[in-house]
Amino acid sequence: MAEQYSRQEWEARASQLTIRAQAFIDGRYRDAASGRTFASHSPVDGRKLADVAECGQADVDLAVASARRAFTAGHWAETRPAQRKKVLFVFADLIETHALELALLETLDMGKPISDSLRVDISGAARCVRWHAEAIDKVYGEIAATGPNELGLITRHALGVVAAIVPWNFPLLMASWKFAPALAAGNSVILKPSEKSPLTAIRVAELAAEAGIPDGVFNVLPGFGPGAGQALGLHGDVDGLVFTGSTAVGKQLFILSGQSNLKRVYTECGGKSPNIVFADCPDIDAAARAAASAIFFNQGEVCTAASRLLVEKPIQAEFMEKVMAASQSRFPGHPLEPATTMGAIVDQLQLDKVLGYIDTARQEGAALRLGGKRTMQDTGGLYLEPTIFAGVTPDMTIFKEEIFGPVLSCVSFEGEQQALQIANDSVYGLAAAVWSRDIGKAHRVARQLRAGSVWVNNWDGGDMTMPFGGFKQSGNGRDKSLHALDKYTELKSTWIKLDV
Ligand code: NAD
Repeated sequence: MAEQYSRQEWEARASQLTIRAQAFIDGRYRDAASGRTFASHSPVDGRKLADVAECGQADVDLAVASARRAFTAGHWAETRPAQRKKVLFVFADLIETHALELALLETLDMGKPISDSLRVDISGAARCVRWHAEAIDKVYGEIAATGPNELGLITRHALGVVAAIVPWNFPLLMASWKFAPALAAGNSVILKPSEKSPLTAIRVAELAAEAGIPDGVFNVLPGFGPGAGQALGLHGDVDGLVFTGSTAVGKQLFILSGQSNLKRVYTECGGKSPNIVFADCPDIDAAARAAASAIFFNQGEVCTAASRLLVEKPIQAEFMEKVMAASQSRFPGHPLEPATTMGAIVDQLQLDKVLGYIDTARQEGAALRLGGKRTMQDTGGLYLEPTIFAGVTPDMTIFKEEIFGPVLSCVSFEGEQQALQIANDSVYGLAAAVWSRDIGKAHRVARQLRAGSVWVNNWDGGDMTMPFGGFKQSGNGRDKSLHALDKYTELKSTWIKLDV
């Protein structure tokens, strides 16, 4: 769809955009109680997009009180699931109706190519809302296996007030993975977008209201740094805290819960995902193309980025040549150009962080095979070349730490056991892939990989039907699929005596 419009047409649309930048609390936009704002700049060309409300404790208190009031009133929580489904369908339709505007906001705000914003982010968010809406009136309770004189009911109940703190890399999509199942289950939601990309979350709040979601049920609190997020984590009247972001912040949230009301905490955190290519890989060209897109898609700013490439020795040289060739089409272009496959890095801090890792890799002796430099500086934007290091050893910093940028580290291995040992030697366990035509070997390796998602002969396969989340320090709980509901509901056991 993005291809229908030229860069000039997208730019014309951008010049017409009205950008909402306030908090959305109790069904209406309002400034932060303090009157404070922070400036949001576009990484595409450095232009200032908006002064965004910087919410703090007072706004959190207001939003939590509103969310609690709405939950207790039951206008959403106690409606029939089929009625919530109906409203959420309208919400999904409205996201689609406004797809061009939302995609443009996403690209301007965080720098990703407009084609990806439309094809992946906005359509994915609408699909997610629709999927959970469709599911919610098909979720039944259980009846326990009891004797004739008892009845054991096992029922699910909405948690209550759920705060969702989300990252900047897929701003609306990651938010929808939280708010769609939370709303479907009947909760009131307070969404806290990242300060680096708050604009689509703010805009979508009024679409939720337009769809018929009652006042107070869906609130959006933009904030800067720890501010609003920390206040939500410590609030005594928030029942659930769901988070996608870094492992460091995820760890903090468990502490905040422990210091306050033991609110449920579910985290989707960082990753350092291994992509294992055996010499008997069924299609070496397809695997090489996938290896390049798996690290360079979304500028490498993907929790599941295949940042560790493990190639079996006999094909290493040939495979690396093919990955390098496939990466040529991944050099950055203007994000509003429909053919662009790599856009801008989200902000200066992130760009400096990635460049720092590239320096460290050089100092530690890795061999730079591609990229490694900032580019397109004349645009005023923040662009980085796709970067590939060979001659990496598993003890190097770039092979261990999450970079969250377009930097690929390649090592070679000999045999299944060594591949598994290298792949599993990480504090993270989000995703992994194995490429082999030997079905037995593929199954053996897939089974032993310590990761929440494993792909065989593909990268990043799956849809809304598959749960998504991590082992180890990549987090707990799962987004997507019916398993997501576990995070937004409490189980109640009701034991009824029948012989009284
Ligand atoms: P981040 O942890 O810096 O920020 C995430 C959110 O937390 C933002 O909204 C931020 O404002 C807020 N925040 C920051 N400090 C806080 C604090 N002390 N208390 C409460 N809230 C706080 O992460 P990021 O830089 O926005 O995103 C990148 C990270 O997200 C990467 O590590 C990436 O792997 C991870 N991520 C994980 C998944 C997944 O599904 N596992 C998906 C996308 C991104």
